[in-house]
Amino acid sequence: MMDFSGKHGLVLGVANKRSLAWAIAKKASEAGADLVLTYQGERLEENVRELAATLPRPPLIVPCDVTSDDQIAAAFAAADEKFGGLDFVVHGAGFAPPEALSEPFVQTSREAFRVALDISAYSLVAMARAAAPLLAKRGGGSILTLTYLGSQRVLQNYNVMGVAKAALETSVMYLASDLGAQNTRVNASSAGPVKTLAAYGISGFSGILQVYRDKAPLKRNIDAGEVADTALFLLSPASRGITGETLFVDAGYHVMGL
Ligand code: NAP
Repeated sequence: MMDFSGKHGLVLGVANKRSLAWAIAKKASEAGADLVLTYQGERLEENVRELAATLPRPPLIVPCDVTSDDQIAAAFAAADEKFGGLDFVVHGAGFAPPEALSEPFVQTSREAFRVALDISAYSLVAMARAAAPLLAKRGGGSILTLTYLGSQRVLQNYNVMGVAKAALETSVMYLASDLGAQNTRVNASSAGPVKTLAAYGISGFSGILQVYRDKAPLKRNIDAGEVADTALFLLSPASRGITGETLFVDAGYHVMGL
């Protein structure tokens, strides 16, 4: 297991025990990290507090809706006050209006496009800007986001989320270029399908899991623990030479053609 003793991180995107961000937070805490966990709105606060109580190291818990610049600023100010800087940040937020994930992509409304791109892609830019001075205080750090293959290939019903993930992955490259001089790395992990709240919003999700089982080189699906292990690698000095990268954790599915 990696050693995160003395490391401080902020993790955004925990909705419930199935969230990929929760799997990452749990592993980081078990490895010794002290965390700030954020929740989006009062509806999720209790969930996040209950989960947080099970961590070996009690985290600071703060609200953060990524559509609000004020809430992003307040969350990072709270992290700075508590820890005096940060070593890593996990961005695990994604959202598109439900109708945009079931109707044909050509029907995507201007508003659905705006919301999906704002929450799922721009939020990384806003968070990286707020995080940069805190990471610099500790000599640089690592920012990680979560993406999906729908950014590069047409996958049924992924629709505007695919467009948002393409913007997210390109943002990773530009942010890596901007922040590299202060020794801050920015990467994405592209996970195969895992049953989470966000995944249930995509029509036909069970069928997607079966296609991966049939076609991926490893002939199976991946689980949240595997996403978390890859995340800890990208958040740790073990990946110190890697930035601007999208690393797949998908049992190899993305390499397959026919
Ligand atoms: P999840 O548990 O539903 O997590 C998504 C998180 O984004 C939730 O905590 C959600 O909160 C949060 N969020 C939505 N709008 C937000 C806002 N305005 N401000 C702050 N947070 C907001 O699902 P997940 O599968 O773990 O998703 C995490 C990331 O992994 C997403 O970017 C997703 O696209 C990506 N990913 C997932 C899979 C998969 O198969 N599960 C595969 C590849 C990549 P609410 O519940 O309140 O909306």
